[in-house]
Amino acid sequence: MPERKGTLKAIFFDVDDTLYSTSGFAQAARRKSVEAMIRAGLKMQVDECVQELNEVMEELGSNYDRHYDKLLVRISKEKYADVNPAIIIAAGVVAYHHTKFKMLKPYPDVIDVFNILICSPLVLGIITAGLEIKQAEKLIRLKLLDYINPKAIFISDQLAIGKQNTKIYQYACDSMNVAPEHCMYVGDNPVYDIDVPDKLGMITVLNRRSGKYLNVYGKAKPRYIIHNMWDLLEILRRDYALPM
Ligand SMILES: [Mg+2]
Repeated sequence: MPERKGTLKAIFFDVDDTLYSTSGFAQAARRKSVEAMIRAGLKMQVDECVQELNEVMEELGSNYDRHYDKLLVRISKEKYADVNPAIIIAAGVVAYHHTKFKMLKPYPDVIDVFNILICSPLVLGIITAGLEIKQAEKLIRLKLLDYINPKAIFISDQLAIGKQNTKIYQYACDSMNVAPEHCMYVGDNPVYDIDVPDKLGMITVLNRRSGKYLNVYGKAKPRYIIHNMWDLLEILRRDYALPM
């Protein structure tokens, strides 16, 4: 019999760069949007414009809603002198969303492993940072709602608590009536996803797979490090004796 490390009752997942590659799709969508703006009449080289757009995203934040307007503000008007700038902005926005919707898919092993996990008694939930409708839209487009307990979706903007605060993790555990030490959190950010829930005694799992935190280290040692969801399943079978 495998050694049982304790009772596990719930697993909460981060979304971005844990269940799908945020960084991969964002870069592809930005490039497609720039190509569309150039086709619409913007006189710039693709790489130069992508670089400018990356700076806009970086400086104004990913949840700002007028990146493309501000991109044109930053560059010389001569680069779009022959076209109504609204057409260039709209071309960029349409291409960005088109690419995003086409590419927004979970990692293939996420669905395979979720199909196994839903047969277990574990509560499967989400704790994610971001705007409430934007994060909810991702869950719908990723087609993950069949696997997630509908009462176990916690979004920072909706709760007005950030993931840098243990309160969001405590709130999620309390809402599901489970003690933090019986809950696992799986995320890619060593600080917000590991250091913070570690303070409550949650079982932390660092997903070293994609995204901007691959080379970031937090203060707390994650209980486990995984590279895909099959690794997680192996941990659940080995250390928590889940009958799967
Ligand atoms: Mg993340």
